[in-house]
Amino acid sequence: MAVTIKTNMKYPPRPYILAETNWKAVQATKFEVAVLPWGATEAHNYQLPYATDNYQNEAITEAAAKLAWERGAKVVVLPNIPFGVQTGQLDIPLCMNILPSTQLAILKDICDVLVRAGIPKLVIFNGHGGNDFKTMVRELSFHYPQLFTCALNWFKVENKSGYFTHLDGDHADEMETSIMLEILPNLVLPLDEAGMVLIKNGSSRRCGKAGLAPNGNGRKFQKTPALAIHTNLPLKKGSATWMP
Ligand SMILES: [Zn+2]
Repeated sequence: MAVTIKTNMKYPPRPYILAETNWKAVQATKFEVAVLPWGATEAHNYQLPYATDNYQNEAITEAAAKLAWERGAKVVVLPNIPFGVQTGQLDIPLCMNILPSTQLAILKDICDVLVRAGIPKLVIFNGHGGNDFKTMVRELSFHYPQLFTCALNWFKVENKSGYFTHLDGDHADEMETSIMLEILPNLVLPLDEAGMVLIKNGSSRRCGKAGLAPNGNGRKFQKTPALAIHTNLPLKKGSATWMP
């Protein structure tokens, strides 16, 4: 009996997303630039999922690559790397730390693949504040002079003050909450779940800032009256932040 394979052409493979495209299409395309999204898996206060940085990376790079492709650029987005540097949050369970030296080793292997494929440019698209690729780009350029390599932090590309009211957070803040409400609202808990982090020296900061504290500094998560900062977050500004 013949087997019927159903296809759904409502969502055909996008030729600029490596995970979706195929060997035949890749063989026929002379890619000019590869984009490598690099995120993190870490606590994002209480209201956002651990993979927030990865979800954001994927949504933004896919939207940007679509625009570029439609204008004729031969761009390919590589699968997002989901683990980042978490050395400042080792006390928080399942913040999935990998060290900068590991990142450099991974990047060297990826550069090697790109050079063999004849792709001349690599953009490391960073979505996590703990990742820092600046010196790695210098080292990669030393090892692979034929490959133009650069890195960007998408969350610093645009001035947030044009979009958001609460500008002192750097993580699980108004911007990240708003973007997640735009792309995956089902994964965002009510904002009254969010709170402050207390650090031993008496200061209190929003969750992400506390992430900069040294490991074992007596971090404690506590709901405080200042929670109103979070509950007042204006919502649904995510698309204005990064969508064309
Ligand atoms: Zn984040």
